[in-house]
Amino acid sequence: MSIQVFGLPVSRGVAIGRAVLVASSRVDVAHYFVEPERAEAEIARLRQARDVVAAELTTLKRELPTDAPGELAALLDVHLMLLHDETLADATKHWIEERHYNAEWAVSAQTEVLARQFDEMEDEYLRERKADIEQVAERLLGVLAKAQPLPLAAGARDFAGEDPLVLVANDIAPADMLQFKGSVFTGFVTDVGGRTSHTAIVARSLDIPAVVGAREASRLVRQDDWLIIDGDAGVVVVNPSPIVLEEYRFRQRQSALERARLDRLRHMPSVTLDGQAVELLANIELPGDAAAALAAGAVGVGLFRSEFLFMNRNGELPNEDEQFEAYRSAVEGMHGMPVTIRTVDIGADKPLDRLTVHELRHEHALNPALGLRAIRWSLSEPAMFRQQIRAILRASAYGKVRMLIPMVAHLAEARHTQEAVARAKQQLTEAGVPFNDIEVGAMVEIPAAAVSLPQLLRYFDFVSVGTNDLIQYTLAIDRADESVAHLYDPWHPAVLRLIADVIATANAAGKHVSVCGEMAGDVAFAELLLAMGLRSYSMHPAQLSSIKQRILRADSTRLAVALRATLASDDPAAEWRRVLGGTTII
Ligand code: PEP
Ligand code: MG
Repeated sequence: MSIQVFGLPVSRGVAIGRAVLVASSRVDVAHYFVEPERAEAEIARLRQARDVVAAELTTLKRELPTDAPGELAALLDVHLMLLHDETLADATKHWIEERHYNAEWAVSAQTEVLARQFDEMEDEYLRERKADIEQVAERLLGVLAKAQPLPLAAGARDFAGEDPLVLVANDIAPADMLQFKGSVFTGFVTDVGGRTSHTAIVARSLDIPAVVGAREASRLVRQDDWLIIDGDAGVVVVNPSPIVLEEYRFRQRQSALERARLDRLRHMPSVTLDGQAVELLANIELPGDAAAALAAGAVGVGLFRSEFLFMNRNGELPNEDEQFEAYRSAVEGMHGMPVTIRTVDIGADKPLDRLTVHELRHEHALNPALGLRAIRWSLSEPAMFRQQIRAILRASAYGKVRMLIPMVAHLAEARHTQEAVARAKQQLTEAGVPFNDIEVGAMVEIPAAAVSLPQLLRYFDFVSVGTNDLIQYTLAIDRADESVAHLYDPWHPAVLRLIADVIATANAAGKHVSVCGEMAGDVAFAELLLAMGLRSYSMHPAQLSSIKQRILRADSTRLAVALRATLASDDPAAEWRRVLGGTTII
């Protein structure tokens, strides 16, 4: 039976493929295909892992203290039995032989199938056996993770089974999402998350269709179901009828044509009809993304989210040299174009992994979005902060670098940042390490920063508006919480007024201002931001051509005239649509 699940559209386009259900705790399991002729070797890997787990369980049982409760030995027997049970052992082999999954992926896929079957059992005792299956699977995955994977043959990652695959999970952490760059999945669905949650942002940067906040999706979808992910409408169609499937295949072809058409704009200068040059920059998460930025026609990086270097580190933060190499690689990758490196913005929905949190004794805050995030955390770890500043300064010897400070709210934060920069420069100078002078800018993403911008500008060379957080903090809406996603409203008059004021104030002060939040890459706001006086946008590389198309067709002078009425309107979105109908060439 075909059903539809509704969520939030976060990454455009249509994906059609078979569902791969992954438990949130297992998202970081390696997912790759093995070529058919290597299936036997992969099954042997699985068998070896199974033998190791069996030996572990047997030893555990043998070494149980004599006074241990009898249930413990019985439980270990159950685990041993499950390990060899054909529903786990044979069926896992099936995923390797038939679907060409690697061993870890096969174990996790079959565990999902079994967990679902247990969930549906009437008998409570049997339902609880699900935990046993999961524990056995965790042991197997643990052993496989330590064992050497089969060396990937050239092109193995590209080798796909017959059907395209889409990933369905309750949640995917932003750092885990990153590992899917260039992976086998052609679309994503998650149960939780808001439109500007970092998981959604990373999904968008992968430029494949995605729907988040689909609440029940991972419960309703079964392993291997056929899914359509409509990333434009936020709809997931499970087991579509042939007619619906054909309709979506048609839309897929249409959007491929549209993309090819937009691609032709890539290397055109972005200038409005009335001759205003507009700078289009890229947001990147990893140094390797510089290539996509260049290919998309970006004239620099407006936001390098350095925090992704700090995630999934198993208790160890990147040291100065490692960071320097990453920044240098991004800078060199941009061939002389400016790269804006944002200092680490850890916290809220971008947590450090548990081990690192423990090492740093940086326990989870009660209210993480309002807690020790971003510059607050950096200033509370002065040695770590100076290390990062030195790494950024060192990279400036290889190209044009700017440093951007996230979540500034207090003037004291500006002063302490300046002191940290001065100290880092002094250390490098004393050590004879080359660097260039760099501009230091502030993210305007807390309403306090927007309102006190004239004072802040005395301390900073430029500003970048983080609309994702600015909306979150202005409207008191958790951007990662799908249950309040309908209240997360970029069109709210208070939000628009703040953005317009920031752009006007910075322009009047002669300071460079750009917008690097998701609004910059959203075509619905392209002309509005232009009317506000914005001349620098930073977005995912994949969004660049669509925004450029809007810029090329816009008359900024005429748009600016209509701005005041829109800002004063009770329904700015409707008022602006009316304006666009009359002032742009469509
Ligand atoms: C923002 O808040 O708009 C922004 C660009 O930063 P991030 O999304 O990483 O919080
Ligand atoms: Mg932010």
